[in-house]
Amino acid sequence: MKKLILPFLFLAITLASAQDLFEIKGLCIAAPTSNGVDEFVRFIDEELGPNGINTLVLRVDYNYAYESRPELRGKAPLNKSQVKQMVAAAKKHEIKLIPQVNLLGHQSWAEQNSKLLEVYPEFDETPHVNLPKKYEWPNQDDLYCKSYCPLHPEIHNVVFDLIDEIIEVFEADAFHAGMDEVFYIADAHCPRCKGKDPAVLFANEVNKINSHLKKSDKQLWIWGDRLIDGASSGIGMWEASMNNTARAIDMIDTSVIICDWHYEKAVPTPALFALKGLNVISSPWRIPSVAKAQVEMMHQFKQNSAAPMKDRFMGVMQTVWSSASEFIKSYHTEKGSNEKSQEACFKAMLAAINELELSLKSTN
Ligand SMILES: [Zn+2]
Repeated sequence: MKKLILPFLFLAITLASAQDLFEIKGLCIAAPTSNGVDEFVRFIDEELGPNGINTLVLRVDYNYAYESRPELRGKAPLNKSQVKQMVAAAKKHEIKLIPQVNLLGHQSWAEQNSKLLEVYPEFDETPHVNLPKKYEWPNQDDLYCKSYCPLHPEIHNVVFDLIDEIIEVFEADAFHAGMDEVFYIADAHCPRCKGKDPAVLFANEVNKINSHLKKSDKQLWIWGDRLIDGASSGIGMWEASMNNTARAIDMIDTSVIICDWHYEKAVPTPALFALKGLNVISSPWRIPSVAKAQVEMMHQFKQNSAAPMKDRFMGVMQTVWSSASEFIKSYHTEKGSNEKSQEACFKAMLAAINELELSLKSTN
């Protein structure tokens, strides 16, 4: 019997190790504008697909002509057939599309409210904070971005319509809710939230969105910063939390996928999430050596973990914070230098993945 089983075992091990290094090799970028769709589809076709990207988080927000909530359409939004063009290109290359609408935080930027607060000012967690004529950081109100009030009785009727429609049009099986850098939470002036524990408020909002998605068997993805203690880790108030939300890590459903962004160093926080039972993806921005270190770190974590934890290190995802068109244009001119740039960082991430995959294959 042993003689029969051994060749099968050997074959199974060889097949497993010849698989991709990571389950997720991703890019997170703003959805293109309506006149940039052709350029974006070409980018999927000629670059993302051939370079092995298998996950594309598209930050859509209000850049879609919502039919369920036409009042929340941004200026010149994408229409359904444009989205379908991107869906077709992604399918062709087996790339999973995950639309993002930023929820809870990021409801304003500089001097401008998001479409949600513009149309529904009653959802504002801090209506007493006026947006400045000229935004500067730091400021007296500690205003980075506005938040919506998670306890407003009408908020979920509105945002769940957006979630359902955007998932349907993108034919997605996951939704990214953002939820990063939430600075305004449990505000002392909010009649519903004052005095409440920010960690509980944050966790309840994550769980509420997650339960809604689970009803149709969809996954929730969020950024991880509010779940890391910024003081004990020394990471601070941006990539981690200094406003008492970090304990939410023990209160959120473990089916939520965490995108753990760190832009200056490959901070080993994916281990924290994985130990808590959460699946995690490491995310760089514009420092090529950080991207390379995150790829190597995630691989090391996988190799040194026991079975239940191993698979929770899902992979890496480059984040891009310029417009899609700007990124694509500089991607084509970027020569792969070690300078700080999103394009060089993305190329370094891809190169590090390829290098590791090649070395793993050659050792088998
Ligand atoms: Zn509130």
